[in-house]
Amino acid sequence: MMFTADAHCDVLWKAAENTASVVNAGTLRQGGVNLQNAALFVPPSLPQNRQYALLNKELRIFQEMTQSVQNPNEQHPDYMLSLEGASLIEDDLKEWARLKEAGLEMAGLTWNERNQLAAGSEQSNQFGLTEKGKNIIEWMNHHSIVLDAAHLNEQSFWQALEYAGKTAVSHTNVRSLHDHPRNLTDEQVRALVHREGFIGLTFYPFFINGTDQADFSDIGRQVEHLCSLGAASITGFGSDFDGIANTATGMESPAGFPDLLEWLLQRFHEDTVKGIAGANFHRFRHRHF
Ligand SMILES: [Zn+2]
Repeated sequence: MMFTADAHCDVLWKAAENTASVVNAGTLRQGGVNLQNAALFVPPSLPQNRQYALLNKELRIFQEMTQSVQNPNEQHPDYMLSLEGASLIEDDLKEWARLKEAGLEMAGLTWNERNQLAAGSEQSNQFGLTEKGKNIIEWMNHHSIVLDAAHLNEQSFWQALEYAGKTAVSHTNVRSLHDHPRNLTDEQVRALVHREGFIGLTFYPFFINGTDQADFSDIGRQVEHLCSLGAASITGFGSDFDGIANTATGMESPAGFPDLLEWLLQRFHEDTVKGIAGANFHRFRHRHF
């Protein structure tokens, strides 16, 4: 079994909203997942007190998940915590410190919206990183929190890269195959290769090819394109399970990983597949900067 990692899913949000989640102990075990990132996500459109209540509930759920790992009789992945968008806390350093204390390892400055820190992927490129956003990135560097640039618009992305330490784009696809603002341009991919960042591929058909259907060969084309840009050693998965309305066929849940990896092994070098399966994300996570 290959070490398998997923750099992004929204199980905490699903669980906090009491909705059925495709990421659970059973599917993670079936999928042989060794490392599962769980993102804190609160819809920025909710009233602020509702957002805080939801955030706190998600933090409690994460604690329960990691505590259950301590039971040696049960097989669980290693869980890591990220923040998907900081519109709720913006530059409130007390809140940032509280999340760091709870185990936060990776954070995005925005979701799709614009806030006091940066502009998200749905925003015009006349908006970018702000002075406050730059200060938060510096705080993150100081506290070893990885910048997740997944939801930044292009302007914010390039500005953030000037200040950021370790940088991931946890759940995305490539614009060369489908021109969507949430996807990466070849130039962005090359910049991430240059700084040994990380790129996690989602299983969301709408990002993969612009339709509501995709299969393993579509995922294979994403991998092939990233390899052609020299990104084989920084690519992995960021499924976006529980955050997307539909998925690529065969990747309806983490249980699909073994079949996908088997499919990739028939088409790519074993070392490349090992890297993409999880070794690249594992190395990225543990590298000091
Ligand atoms: Zn997202």
